[in-house]
Amino acid sequence: MTRSAALAAATEAIAHSGIRELADAATEVPGAIRLDVGQPDFATPAHIVEAAKQALDGGWTAYTPTQGLRSLRELIAAKIARVNGYPVGPDRVACGPGGVSAIAAAFGAVLEPTDEVLLPDPAWPNYELMAAWTHSRVVRYPCPPELGFLPDVERLRERITPRTKLLVVNSPNNPTGAVYPSETVRAIADLAEKHNLWLLSDECYDEIVHEGVTVSPAALVGDSRVISAYSFSKTYAMTGWRLGYVTGPSRLVDSVTKVLESQSSCAPSVSQKAAEAALAGPQDCVGEMRAAYRRRRDQVVDRLREAELLISVPRGAFYIMADVSPSGLSSRDFAFRLLRECSVSVAPGSAFGEVAARSVRISLASSEEDLAEGVGRLCHLVGELARDTA
Ligand code: PLP
Repeated sequence: MTRSAALAAATEAIAHSGIRELADAATEVPGAIRLDVGQPDFATPAHIVEAAKQALDGGWTAYTPTQGLRSLRELIAAKIARVNGYPVGPDRVACGPGGVSAIAAAFGAVLEPTDEVLLPDPAWPNYELMAAWTHSRVVRYPCPPELGFLPDVERLRERITPRTKLLVVNSPNNPTGAVYPSETVRAIADLAEKHNLWLLSDECYDEIVHEGVTVSPAALVGDSRVISAYSFSKTYAMTGWRLGYVTGPSRLVDSVTKVLESQSSCAPSVSQKAAEAALAGPQDCVGEMRAAYRRRRDQVVDRLREAELLISVPRGAFYIMADVSPSGLSSRDFAFRLLRECSVSVAPGSAFGEVAARSVRISLASSEEDLAEGVGRLCHLVGELARDTA
């Protein structure tokens, strides 16, 4: 191939997210029960939609400052104090089109080629994609099922090298639903301090917690080396509006803003006005959706426990892992069998790393009816395959 037609090798080589692979296959199966992607089945609350309509009528159709409207960042600063428990001024907030782009901009702001980035195993697949185009090297630290999917801090420590630059944590966690207790957060923040690392705390599910509380590293140790990431997608069922943000020290936020400038110029102005309404308006909708996710969690926990496929009870976010090892299949093969034979789509654990390679992720963002039917079929298929292999 001639040089001019070559693509950046790291980006070309990396696979698409393994969640997408199943989700795309599911679109070819008419009537498939979709328990694969983290897409809330709720509509965006009406008062937020109404505010967006008014914003459009009022001419909010132009570029905004790259960091986001100051009025929005002031509301975000108040939310950070209220929910996440640390002080931050509007100048230290950068909004992007989705939490994903704000996080990617933080990767771009921090990492240089050959730097190492420590990612949890299992982890949301998008971090690997970000590492690919920043030309950094991914090193995984285990969050094993026997620890309730909490980070194994000792093994994390062993993976730090002189090249380690960024340590990513994600609580409440996708895909496991683990919520890290404050001792764990403190131990990890201490490691970041001791080894002079950036600590990226992905808190995009910060308001979906069923037991315990989420602890922001920035609230425990200050934010001089902590980058915290948040999203409107999950809290307010606003996935398609594309709005998220990061906070951090000024020099970090300045560099993040430069990356965002190159990627998107600004987040959609109408979405920023909708987000203002989300933060300034009544918060009952957040509690109602959280209560629904909790009911669904309890329902699925009971069903998986009965089938002896429960690994651990998620304390936050809206996902649960199911053990499919009795089927004798890899998680990917199992997920495709479940889709083809039972018309149920879940995310294979292998999409998230090695640790979850014999389990699948069920999204609790689907309806109670779909969960009852879909998880029932999943348990049945594992049982059938287990009998075949016995
Ligand atoms: N972080 C985690 C762990 C996620 O699961 C997601 C979305 O699924 C995001 C960040 C980003 O969400 P969004 O880009 O919709 O704000």
